[in-house]
Amino acid sequence: PTAPDVQAPQHADVDGLLPRPTAESDKYRRGVVGVAAGSARYPGAAVLAVAGALRGGAGAVRYVGTGTDAVVRAFPEALVSADGPARAGRVQAWVVGPGLGDGPQARTALDEVLAADVPVLVDADGLRLLDPDAVRARTAPTLLTPHAGEAAALLGTAREEVEARRLASVRELAVRLRATVLLKGSTTLVAPAPAPGGDGASPVRVNPTGTGWLATAGSGDVLSGLTGALLAAGLAAPEAASAGAYLHGLAARLAARPPTASTVAEALPEAWHSVT
Ligand code: AMP
Ligand code: MG
Repeated sequence: PTAPDVQAPQHADVDGLLPRPTAESDKYRRGVVGVAAGSARYPGAAVLAVAGALRGGAGAVRYVGTGTDAVVRAFPEALVSADGPARAGRVQAWVVGPGLGDGPQARTALDEVLAADVPVLVDADGLRLLDPDAVRARTAPTLLTPHAGEAAALLGTAREEVEARRLASVRELAVRLRATVLLKGSTTLVAPAPAPGGDGASPVRVNPTGTGWLATAGSGDVLSGLTGALLAAGLAAPEAASAGAYLHGLAARLAARPPTASTVAEALPEAWHSVT
């Protein structure tokens, strides 16, 4: 029999993926997430991405960028630096892009993150600035988290084309960029990066927990931080992406109505608890 080409995780699958601290755990082993996000124009994106990373169970979050004051005010537990990613110290995974803007600082931050030999999640403005060759040249895993518009720009096509052919589009992007791709939207899809030398035919994961309540400003930034924490904890990119999307949708369902991006982040512990 041929393997199904689409799979939907359930509670038990996600439960099996989520990290569990042990007596041997320390904050470094639990995963340090670097977050390069925010700009003078979008200071809140930095706070929301850090919120997602902390609520995603990171051992520590290192934030770099222009939003250090706002981040520390919101989260005293965050480590912050106004220096670029290259001088941030050790991290186990990077999240780059939410609200980053498109100025020279943003480009430098993206280049430095992509040069790091650890898993990298690229979202939002990071996707707009992305050089596909720089992604293909990476040896550590890369996870891209576009919505349909961002995916269309990367594919050089129209948003409507991506919306009309979401499954083919997410697969195409994963094969072209040799990266795992999480395509956001009413039904979020995750296409694993093709195995080196493989034919790119691994099953696409469909997230069953999505809700229209997630269609609210900043919710994508929370997903980035959350999924980055799962990467830093050691989940492979496709598993981090599908577990991240799963918890994100559950959190939006559990948050008081109507949820905002902040309350989705606050509901992540309850979402986590409901699957484990
Ligand atoms: P962004 O596009 O970066 O703002 O992220 C929006 C988030 O909300 C993503 O996680 C999307 O998958 C999710 N989302 C947006 N619209 C819907 C919808 N109609 N149904 C379910 N999830 C949605
Ligand atoms: Mg976004």
